Amino acid sequence: MNEKIWLSPPHMGGKEEKYVEDVFASNWIAPIGPYVDQFEKMLANYNEVQHVAALSSGTAAIHLALIILGVQPGDEVICSSFTFAASANPIYYLGAHPVLVDSEPETWNMDPELLKKAIESRIRSGQKPKAIVLVYLYGMPAMIDEILDIAREYNIPVVEDAAEALGSTYKGRKLGSFGDIGVYSFNGNKIITTSGGGALVSEHGEYVEKAKYLSTQARDPALHYQHSQIGYNYRLSNVLAAIGCGQMEVLDDRVARRREIHRYYQEKLSSIQQIQFLPEPKDYFSNRWLTCITVQGNEGINLKICQNLQNENIEARPLWKPLHIQPSFKQATVFSNGVSEQLFDYGICLPSGTAMTEVQLERVVKAIRNALCSKRK
Ligand SMILES: *Cc1c(COP(=O)(O)O)cnc(C)c1O
Repeated sequence: MNEKIWLSPPHMGGKEEKYVEDVFASNWIAPIGPYVDQFEKMLANYNEVQHVAALSSGTAAIHLALIILGVQPGDEVICSSFTFAASANPIYYLGAHPVLVDSEPETWNMDPELLKKAIESRIRSGQKPKAIVLVYLYGMPAMIDEILDIAREYNIPVVEDAAEALGSTYKGRKLGSFGDIGVYSFNGNKIITTSGGGALVSEHGEYVEKAKYLSTQARDPALHYQHSQIGYNYRLSNVLAAIGCGQMEVLDDRVARRREIHRYYQEKLSSIQQIQFLPEPKDYFSNRWLTCITVQGNEGINLKICQNLQNENIEARPLWKPLHIQPSFKQATVFSNGVSEQLFDYGICLPSGTAMTEVQLERVVKAIRNALCSKRK
């Protein structure tokens, strides 16, 4: 059997282990310490944002973002429907109600027209949404200008879920720096990783101060443990921040390599008429976290190809299943247009790890070609 090709495995840059040794030498084995500070500085510089809180996960960052924006039980929060469940789960943690908005076909992200329709409809029902969680799927920027205009028109704050989009830009500016709050993830499968981790960023210093306070059990200034609010244990470990500092040093290389892998697949597969890629519109720069294709054919063709790849020991998956057809979101309010369901039915994520070799890339391309040829027979 050929060696396993994973979808998006961790890829260390080389300095991480040395920095972790440094942590052990200094005994800062705690959710506080010099590497946490350093990692936050590096993230602030890279993304050109003023303030950063390093947290234990991207999910924790979304949870705190919604608390900071004042989401209360019974409130409604808009979220992209075409995303990973972690984008919207924190809405339920707060006893709030998700309003799921479908995608447009240009970028696969939240459809601005449908967003406007959703806001107006919820306002007519006497439930003005409290916040918008805007997701950048697979690293592709959304129609940000249009969405921010609508959010401003109705005065609703925006949380950017840039968990998959670290290093992507829109009109030259890093994703995560457009909204009221931006969120990143450093989970094991993301473009860089701390094994598990996340960050909350904002131009509003008081939001990030609040995130640091809430993520460290909401301790009031006092010698004894004094609390006037419910807190969380959501701060990033200094051990993991050391890994993060090593990873930040190679982030631009990782973005370049993911884009190169995307170009490779495009070159080798675009001669097959059934296969389409998501183009990058003008002013859009995607980190191409995962290369995704859609395949024309009978329903279930994507599952068949994934199965074929699996047989070759290659990990591939359908695109995210839209939240509005997930059992766990069946109570949510939905504004759909069929776009994300179509993508789920015909889309595939291809192995896109930055440590992939040419030989491995060739194996994937060959397996896809074989899957499509055998289908015709
Ligand atoms: C990974 C991911 C998250 C969650 O991040 P974690 O660090 O794994 O908690 C949230 N949203 C999207 C779109 C993601 O891909």
